[in-house]
Amino acid sequence: MARLERLGAELAARYGYRPIETPMFEQTAVFERGIGEVTDVVEKELFRIAPRSEDGESWALRPEPTAGIVRAYVQHGMQTWPQPVKLTMTGPMFRYDRPQAGRYRQFSQFDVEAIGDAGPAIDAEIIELAARFYRDAGLAAIDLQLNSIGDATCRPAYLEGLRAYYRSKIDGLPSVERARLERSPLRLLDSKEPAMEAVNADAPRITDFLCTACAAHFAGVRAHLDAVGVPYRLEPRLVRGLDYYTRTAFEVYPRGAAGQQSAIGGGGRYDGLVELLGGRPTPGIGFGLGLDRTLLALEAAGAAETPEMHALAVVVGADPAATADRLRVATELRASGLAARADLANRKLGRQLEAAAKEGAHFAVILGDELADGQVQLRDLQAGTQQVVPAADLVRHLTRAGDSHRHG
Ligand code: AMP
Repeated sequence: MARLERLGAELAARYGYRPIETPMFEQTAVFERGIGEVTDVVEKELFRIAPRSEDGESWALRPEPTAGIVRAYVQHGMQTWPQPVKLTMTGPMFRYDRPQAGRYRQFSQFDVEAIGDAGPAIDAEIIELAARFYRDAGLAAIDLQLNSIGDATCRPAYLEGLRAYYRSKIDGLPSVERARLERSPLRLLDSKEPAMEAVNADAPRITDFLCTACAAHFAGVRAHLDAVGVPYRLEPRLVRGLDYYTRTAFEVYPRGAAGQQSAIGGGGRYDGLVELLGGRPTPGIGFGLGLDRTLLALEAAGAAETPEMHALAVVVGADPAATADRLRVATELRASGLAARADLANRKLGRQLEAAAKEGAHFAVILGDELADGQVQLRDLQAGTQQVVPAADLVRHLTRAGDSHRHG
């Protein structure tokens, strides 16, 4: 996880995104207005904080980063900065749900947002950044799905077409979907209800309804993706689960995986969100990549790297009571940048060495009578060799031996 967080931060910096930290909780209205009230994230998954009766405020843990970042953009006057403002954040998100494989109540996202650029070139740049993240993480086989979900000009006619379609199928709809049909028909398209799979197969496609401007924008995104050589698959049923999206929407899956549960990342354009949260009309686009699921996908592909461990030295001694000597030597090794631990238990040398071997330590530094002459025993626990070295040369010896362990 730490490796993925570092990779995200390093890539975002290379692409010119500056870090931002928003609070882990916000007024509920930020999420309700931004994400939309008739969405799974707000209806079912918002982690509400029990209100304190005296202030009448309503708070919730952040379920996703975009609404909070856009709130900060508006509140802190970033509209006066040179546009687009490119921001990045990695951190925990919270969704109230029954925990299951790949679906946690707390999970981590690597997020970028470019606010103030209408695209379509920046859309492709952001999607290319997402693709590069997975590639650099070691996940070569991804399925990048792309769609345009239109805007305020063309979406109403599409929504009406969708409603008419679902009304004609009303008898086959689960009750939760029937209740949402009139207010939010798009939610039915990305419903997790198994019964919706067959119904949705024949639903009208947004791409048949796009207005001229949205169609031109979508063509522009695809042309720019082609120009930077990012492979993608058009998926006309992809709508993303949040209300604020307009035009470009994309989602990433490990290749061969199906179902919402396995999406390892997603993003899209939100040209109405800044205005919705109190700012001037300003376009924006971003993504959130799920680090927990990316790690699961890496493990499934056998590509999860075990972290490179420093060669550990354990400082042990013949005199169980001489903990100050052991602590001092270990402290000196650590001050020189080496990984070291002192055995501080008051126990016999044999037991100290056993513990070091069990731990998988590479070296034991053994303090004995020679210490009076400025010498220690250096045992290579893995090679099974031992030599007497001057205490003053210990760092040099350990560094050289540690290097040969790493490369040999
Ligand atoms: P979303 O905005 O819902 O598409 O979330 C973006 C990404 O975050 C998803 O593609 C997942 O990888 C990840 N994600 C969303 N919800 C969860 C969850 N409950 N547990 C783990 N990862 C999640």
